[in-house]
Amino acid sequence: MFARDGRVLEGELPLSQLERLHDVLASVAGVISYRIEGFRGERGEPMLQLTVSGQVQLACQRCLEAVPFELDVDSLLEVIPEGAEMSQDELEDDTRDFLPVVRELVVADFVEDEIILSLPVAPRHERCGFPGAADAGERLNPFAALDGLKGKPN
Ligand SMILES: [Zn+2]
Repeated sequence: MFARDGRVLEGELPLSQLERLHDVLASVAGVISYRIEGFRGERGEPMLQLTVSGQVQLACQRCLEAVPFELDVDSLLEVIPEGAEMSQDELEDDTRDFLPVVRELVVADFVEDEIILSLPVAPRHERCGFPGAADAGERLNPFAALDGLKGKPN
């Protein structure tokens, strides 16, 4: 339940459920923890603060082995009411909650988006311990393609 002020939603999500992350992960085992707090901004606008913590295993860009990465998401977002044309009075009406209408699926999407934004663009070991592992398969790695582009002179 959400408190009247400082409404808070906390929980955990299994990485296996955050499918858009899977391409960049070496392992989808484990869970991440999130905390969403609702409050009013300076102009009375509804705001959300999202924090996410937990460790993920990113796929090294060179050898595809796991690179442990500690999530540290701390995002502040203004909530734009979905669809409805609300008057300023309605928006400022404290009896209207925006968080309770956020369903679990939407929370997962929201958390997933913010995790994606927080990830390093080119995760890699400082020194890869498994030089042969690059031959291990043909896993798609979007970052590898990106890096290739950056390295080319125009
Ligand atoms: Zn590596």
